[in-house]
Amino acid sequence: MGDDTAMSEVVLHELVKTYPGGGKRATDGVSLHIPDGEFMVLLGPSGCGKTTLLRMLAGLELPDAGQVVIGGRDVTYLEPRRRNLSMVFQSYAVFPHKRVFDNIGFGLRMRGVPVGVVRRKVEWAAELLELTPYLDRLPAKLSGGQRQRVAVARAIVVDADVLLMDEPLSNLDALLRLSFRAELKKLVSELGTTTIYVTHDQVEALSLGDRVAVMREGRIVQCGTPVEVYSHPADEFVGGFLGSPPMNFLTGLAGGEGESLHIDFGGQSLPLPRALASYRGKELKLGIRPEAIAVEPGRTSPDGAVEVAVEVFEPLGSSTLLTTKLCGQTLKVSASAGFHADPGERLWLRLPPDQCRWYDPETQLALE
Ligand code: ATP
Repeated sequence: MGDDTAMSEVVLHELVKTYPGGGKRATDGVSLHIPDGEFMVLLGPSGCGKTTLLRMLAGLELPDAGQVVIGGRDVTYLEPRRRNLSMVFQSYAVFPHKRVFDNIGFGLRMRGVPVGVVRRKVEWAAELLELTPYLDRLPAKLSGGQRQRVAVARAIVVDADVLLMDEPLSNLDALLRLSFRAELKKLVSELGTTTIYVTHDQVEALSLGDRVAVMREGRIVQCGTPVEVYSHPADEFVGGFLGSPPMNFLTGLAGGEGESLHIDFGGQSLPLPRALASYRGKELKLGIRPEAIAVEPGRTSPDGAVEVAVEVFEPLGSSTLLTTKLCGQTLKVSASAGFHADPGERLWLRLPPDQCRWYDPETQLALE
């Protein structure tokens, strides 16, 4: 142990967990390295094993195999209170009969911290979370957002090595969630505490995480910065799970002679990178984000563009969503706010080569 850096680094090694009678593995060999001070988000659909992973980290579940190492110390089988972690749950989990002050100071009192220090720390956390005017109130007299702030304040006062959060915003209404998300981001970056945050909300994950680990069926399928996982999805699942609307996937046949290489969607074709020459004669999938596609202004055939038919036109305020068909396959396009097209209209679209991602239709894995 020794230096402070090692104190908050978290290493998960090949964690396996099956619940009694559960059959399938809830986590199926998860490894993850979270450096000191990082905000790591575990993202994935319901049932993919996020909470199980967090609970093994907290010591609330024991793995069947694998290791949890915090600050260089193997804590896999250590009881929760000896791990120096703080946890914020989805349900506010505040004590209804205790005043806000006592709720926030609870963990400190349990650790035998002197009354004067408790007061100072509670006042510091209340100030940070804008709870100072409510310190004497009971939780029943607070709004949902304020109650969740109390839960966060209680978690941060204890100076834990690692902060664990399980969907802390999910019980708040949409507007409150938005403002609290920004507050939480600011707070955690100021504190610099290593944080592991579970959510199934991709916007929350991208907005908060230094890195995002995308999970599926008990495994991490990709871990990277928000930009990496969004713009270079490792497989079709990640491309389809992130983004609203999600990434488009179009199946085509790679072809061409000699130097020329293209993908044919059934009458419409696009150039293909040389690196994919070995796929000539085989099917490939093109992945492209709706906002990466540009609508050509003219009605004639520009080079490197494809022609589509507009099926649905949806003005969304800040942008316009078009559902189009390219040789029978659906292609969603996010156009500018003022754009207009009628259903049935034909348009030319440019799919910039640097925005195109290529996937193997069988393995569904990225090819580049
Ligand atoms: P959610 O977002 O819905 O909470 P999650 O990604 O956090 O989902 P987990 O709660 O970790 O997923 O669940 C992973 C798998 O383990 C699921 O198939 C779930 O049904 C199962 N599971 C979770 N807890 C238990 C339990 N106590 N007993 C049996 N099976 C469980």
